[in-house]
Amino acid sequence: MIADVDNDSIVYLNGETLRLGDAKISVLDRGFIFGDGIYDVVPAYSGRPFRMDEHLDRLERSLASISIQVDMQRADWEHLVTDMISRSGLGDCMVYIQVTRGVAARDHAFPANSKPTVFCMVSPFVRPGAVQREQGLSAVSIPDLRWLRCEIKSISLLGNVLAKQAAVDAGVDEVLQFRDGFLSEGASSNVWIAKNNVLLAPPRNNLILEGIRYRLLEELAAQAGVSFEARPVSTEEVDQADEIMMTSATKEILPITTYNANPVGSGKPGPVYEKLRKGYDQAIRTLEQA
Ligand code: PLP
Repeated sequence: MIADVDNDSIVYLNGETLRLGDAKISVLDRGFIFGDGIYDVVPAYSGRPFRMDEHLDRLERSLASISIQVDMQRADWEHLVTDMISRSGLGDCMVYIQVTRGVAARDHAFPANSKPTVFCMVSPFVRPGAVQREQGLSAVSIPDLRWLRCEIKSISLLGNVLAKQAAVDAGVDEVLQFRDGFLSEGASSNVWIAKNNVLLAPPRNNLILEGIRYRLLEELAAQAGVSFEARPVSTEEVDQADEIMMTSATKEILPITTYNANPVGSGKPGPVYEKLRKGYDQAIRTLEQA
């Protein structure tokens, strides 16, 4: 029994669907021993996956980037996502997919013949509510102490776990991580600033995980007539931003209105956020009505 989860919920493990409470893996799984695996999280609204193609593209990129070959074609991944959503009976939910290099004797180098472990579960998703949307979140800055392959959606999340705990310890919602004087990202989100009606985000490179909302926000900004620039964003620019925002599958887009204990701009969600939020909500409605 695992506390605080629905042990009767249905999960997928290596080709089988079974109760979460009955799903077991070997202690020699390389995900457990080395954190040797990748994951992705696909949000769904009213039972429909949002941006599934982009999430599955990233899943396949992550697998390729650490040389894990799984005997699953694109259609199999799509079926896994949609089938697990329908088995869950949930409307708004998160589909978590994890693939590890599988079970082998403990040795750092890739084993010759391990079979990847494929796991999938679906959890209820409570969308960010009015308070978060209207009052915004708080954040503090911390140094980014993670490795230099942040573009891989690795299950080795110790750096992100420590970053998130730094937020909890500081009594705030999120941290903004900085490397060599420049913004990278949140503990589990991408971070954006607005200055003079221009949206800025750190460039896509090995220092950040490119969220599926990265391209989405570019599209929403273009639709809303907000110019967008991907370029290094300095500590000072964040300090002087008119607006700060974060995006992730679970947070969608939310404003950060308190940063290092100071109000950001007016201290209220700003006009760039409002435009992007409107576009985001519309994208969800379009999916639900398709
Ligand atoms: N950056 C990190 C480190 C993350 O963990 C996440 C999401 O979990 C993101 C960015 C945002 O990615 P997405 O928009 O695909 O959820």
